[in-house]
Amino acid sequence: MVAPPRSAYLHIPFCHKRCFYCDFSIIPLGDSAQAPGSPGVSSINAYLELLHREISIAPRGPALSTIYLGGGTPSLLKKNEVGDLLKNLQGKFGFQDGAEITMEVDPATFFENDLNGYVEIGINRFSLGGQAFDDKTLSLIGRKHNRSQVIEACSWLNNLFKKGILRSWSLDLIQNLPGSNLSNWIKELEQAVDTEAPHLSIYDLTIEPDTVFGRIHKKGKLNIPIEFEAQKIDFQTNRFLKSKGFSRYEISSYSLPGHASRHNRVYWSGAGWWGFGMGATSAPWGERFSRPRTIAGYKKWLNQQESIFLEKTLSNEKSRQMPLDELIMIGLRRREGVHLEELAKNAGWTQKECDKNLKLLDKFWLNSLKEGSLLRNNGRYFLSDPRGMQISNQILIQMFLWWDSLDRDQ
Ligand code: SF4
Repeated sequence: MVAPPRSAYLHIPFCHKRCFYCDFSIIPLGDSAQAPGSPGVSSINAYLELLHREISIAPRGPALSTIYLGGGTPSLLKKNEVGDLLKNLQGKFGFQDGAEITMEVDPATFFENDLNGYVEIGINRFSLGGQAFDDKTLSLIGRKHNRSQVIEACSWLNNLFKKGILRSWSLDLIQNLPGSNLSNWIKELEQAVDTEAPHLSIYDLTIEPDTVFGRIHKKGKLNIPIEFEAQKIDFQTNRFLKSKGFSRYEISSYSLPGHASRHNRVYWSGAGWWGFGMGATSAPWGERFSRPRTIAGYKKWLNQQESIFLEKTLSNEKSRQMPLDELIMIGLRRREGVHLEELAKNAGWTQKECDKNLKLLDKFWLNSLKEGSLLRNNGRYFLSDPRGMQISNQILIQMFLWWDSLDRDQ
């Protein structure tokens, strides 16, 4: 049985404009998103009402140990708007002492005073969407902010951290952007380390078809590093950050000791979490569910949930569980990997099923095990770092082929 969730994700879908690589569930509000009386402000108010309604009809559960406000751009909200959401969540579930409360912030949307305000209402960890330090690159990928805004935001966050007001903070960078090569990327990493951020999220650029980049790429005009170069860049990222004391605790996440994100780890551990908001994914009892990605769809869904009484529906999900293939997929992202037999038994497999089926998985993974991209130690399987982490998709495809080949009624 999956334990009840102790984590919650709130989706704040507003952005000034859509970045060229982004296919998230967002609503672009334009430059005047925060101007009093603007249409952007009314959209935010209307959405927050829906979000509060969704929190109110969720079933009760244990006190939360991690809360994450992501987006979109949560820093388009005012301090009291974020505070009201936290109060609603706290009233519903309660917060454990020392709960990690993270908010994503975008350098184009806040000043130092805003950060102080968010801290006052309980935010104790920030994740800054810097993405790059180079002005030309930032404009090429459609970000609204520039280099000096990233650097300034980092210094405000670091000040709060050094004073002990923040428990941690993180900086996001995107690897393998157009025009990127090994030498300019290492300069980006050097600047990231210079900010003294104790946590770095390094995402690989993914080209999604329905984006500006997707369309340019289809015409063969996006100048991104070819696969071999991209792997070299990832290899050097890993080497460089480790030489600076960072450890890679998940494929895209590097932290100094004690600064791994507790909320991140929930996603990859197979534990459940609440999710609230348009496009948000939740897995309250282990089974994933994604909400509609448009505001009209979300509103309609919410009306339906209210009328059929969500509490009853979700309570019935207590008996369901995340399927084993999904548990393996998310578990393998973590440095510590997965103990296959333990996982299978938790999912209800008998010893006989484990003996038969897991041996078969070893056959599907034979090449990966032989070449050392996948490692095995006392029943625990984990990706080697960096090689296995770089080709994790191939290893997962082999696992899904195994899963589809099983004769099972699950
Ligand atoms: S700020 Fe983030 S969520 Fe918004 S469009 Fe850009 S990448 Fe997407």
